[in-house]
Amino acid sequence: KKVLFSGMQATGNLTIGNYLGALKNWVNIGDEYECFFSVVDLHSITVRQDPATLRKRARELLTLYIAAGLDAEKNCIYYQSHVSAHAELSWILNCFTYMGELNRMTQFKDKSAKNADNINSGLFTYPVLMAADILLYQTDVVPVGIDQMQHLEIARDIGTRFNSIYGDVFTIPEIYMGKVGRKIMSLQEPSKKMSKSDENPNGSIYLTDEPDAIIRKFKRAVTDSGSDVIYSEDKPGIKNLIDIYCAITGKETKEVEKEFDGKGYGDFKLAVGETVMDCLKPIQDKQKELLKDKQYIDGVIKNNAEKANYFATKTLRKVQRKVGFPDRV
Ligand code: ATP
Ligand code: MG
Repeated sequence: KKVLFSGMQATGNLTIGNYLGALKNWVNIGDEYECFFSVVDLHSITVRQDPATLRKRARELLTLYIAAGLDAEKNCIYYQSHVSAHAELSWILNCFTYMGELNRMTQFKDKSAKNADNINSGLFTYPVLMAADILLYQTDVVPVGIDQMQHLEIARDIGTRFNSIYGDVFTIPEIYMGKVGRKIMSLQEPSKKMSKSDENPNGSIYLTDEPDAIIRKFKRAVTDSGSDVIYSEDKPGIKNLIDIYCAITGKETKEVEKEFDGKGYGDFKLAVGETVMDCLKPIQDKQKELLKDKQYIDGVIKNNAEKANYFATKTLRKVQRKVGFPDRV
């Protein structure tokens, strides 16, 4: 089987952006692959986190993976920090990455502008750690949102560079993106991507939002002048809502335009809200139920960390040998 790797940071409650851009695709295509789904807590601390909150969110996120439909027996669902090979390979790959390459990363620019008081070197080398995450498992495919495209390219570049020096050590991964939902925008600022670390909660629909909050946020979503439900670059607000609606229902944009022909924005927003609500309800219920089952979740954490460690260490040992570290005796 080919290998799939992906992960999310425990930096906040997941948004429907994370769900439609990544998690939903994991569930859709995962069966065809040997899958590794990580809660990337090492990445999370590139931005300051409250320790108790981070720990709690990490557990909720891991549980949410399962609640969203990933089978914890078939898939390797684990915490990045439980597999030290991520940090070790990341160090080695740092020595094969150029400052100039990292300087071009737009996520670093965005995040350092948002966290001007804490522009740490972890934030700068974030893409190298991400490359290590992916390359460790000899990954073939990485399903992520389009915002991660640049990071995936640098991971490919680093892997290719290493291979060109030392021979075929790493599989060079491909990106996977769904047809719709690659980039869900903020409901308040449709020019900005929806992010779980956004400070304005009205811009995001969280996977944990109650039905009334979902409906309220969609009702208040910033839309454009005019009143026709039309998919157009000139109407970024409505376009985003149509994207959300299509990503969940599987409908085409043309169908949606027809469905809401002659109806106003109000009707459409309500319909999107209800669709999202119905989609999230079963996931929320399942997550609540799973969070109560401490023994089961603990078992998943322990077993999968062992499995991930086994595969990751295999690649790490190979890399260590290639670069010239002494053999273990
Ligand atoms: P943060 O603001 O802390 O970076 P985030 O919402 O960007 O949080 P990540 O953990 O960085 O979430 O990314 C997890 C996954 O979700 C990645 O695959 C990313 O590409 C995807 N993703 C994030 N935001 C969106 C979005 N608005 N639309 C589609 N996919 C998204
Ligand atoms: Mg992000």
